Amino acid sequence: MERFDIAVIGTGPAGLEAAITAKVRNKSVLLLGSKGSSDKVEKAHSIQNYLGLPNIPGDKMAQTFLDHAASMGVEITEDKVNAVYSMGSYFALQCHGGDYEASSVIVAAGMSAMKPFPGEMENLGRGVSYCATCDAALYKGKTAIILAYSAADEEEAEFLAERAEKVFYLPQYEYAGNLGGNIEVHDGIKATSIEMADGQAVLNAESDTFKADGIFILREQIAPSQLVPGLTMDGNHIKVDRSMATNIKGLFACGDITGTPYQYIKAAGEGNVAALSAVSYLNELKKN
Ligand SMILES: Cc1cc2nc3c(=O)[nH]c(=O)nc-3n(C[C@H](O)[C@H](O)[C@H](O)COP(=O)(O)OP(=O)(O)OC[C@H]3O[C@@H](n4cnc5c(N)ncnc54)[C@H](O)[C@@H]3O)c2cc1C
Repeated sequence: MERFDIAVIGTGPAGLEAAITAKVRNKSVLLLGSKGSSDKVEKAHSIQNYLGLPNIPGDKMAQTFLDHAASMGVEITEDKVNAVYSMGSYFALQCHGGDYEASSVIVAAGMSAMKPFPGEMENLGRGVSYCATCDAALYKGKTAIILAYSAADEEEAEFLAERAEKVFYLPQYEYAGNLGGNIEVHDGIKATSIEMADGQAVLNAESDTFKADGIFILREQIAPSQLVPGLTMDGNHIKVDRSMATNIKGLFACGDITGTPYQYIKAAGEGNVAALSAVSYLNELKKN
């Protein structure tokens, strides 16, 4: 498997700037995220305070960022990172579309306002999971519940349904799909809590209860401490020093995920620092 110098997670201003800086420093870069940058850039109405781009609509700023990255030869690998494991001298990244390796990692995954459901964290890995394609093989002849947050999750449901006996699909977005067969779609369900009862995963909702062998929660963002086991947190944010280094050697973080203020220019600036620090780390690694 190819081992990249630097893997960057997230294609918002922090991740794009980190990838550009790493590229300028001649490092091989794996940039993981969505091809369209971040919703927080694309959906902003008008931005007044980004240096060099006065009074710019969010979608135009996103395109400017993406064009800049493309012009430097930075490619985006459209994938969602499920977990990052430190293997000592390198990192293993488990993604929905496959696995990758990198000598260092920059987490630029932004902040999510969503709180875990009561019972979610307690049952993670024991009935609750965040990646249906990763665990599909374990669901042969079994039943599963998918809490889905975007239309892209419909493909994941279809993949799981090829193995599972039955899939309950609960879209948390405006559903306009045509899932069928052994996928039972329940639209408009508001989940309230999760529990395990008699070996079954139970999803309690305002108007209903669903039981299955497992529950998949396919949010766009995963809590940082779940994304990278062993990470030291500072409240909801990843704890970093001024070089954007975390407590895990070779792993850096930047942007909203490291704390307030939540601002584009702060995110991009931290992306730059994180990439330079990752380059220094790689140079040291080479010497040893
Ligand atoms: C409506 C709105 C208006 C705003 N206006 C302004 C403004 O005028 N000026 C200003 O300075 N700031 C503004 N902000 C704040 C600004 O949007 C954020 O500070 C900035 O986007 C943070 O950049 P980031 O790269 O850290 O994170 P984000 O922009 O959130 O990008 C993170 C990216 O990582 C991806 N990601 C997350 N998890 C994973 C994973 N596991 N695998 C792969 N990819 C993943 C996400 O999908 C996302 O694309 C505004 C925010 C909003 C919501």
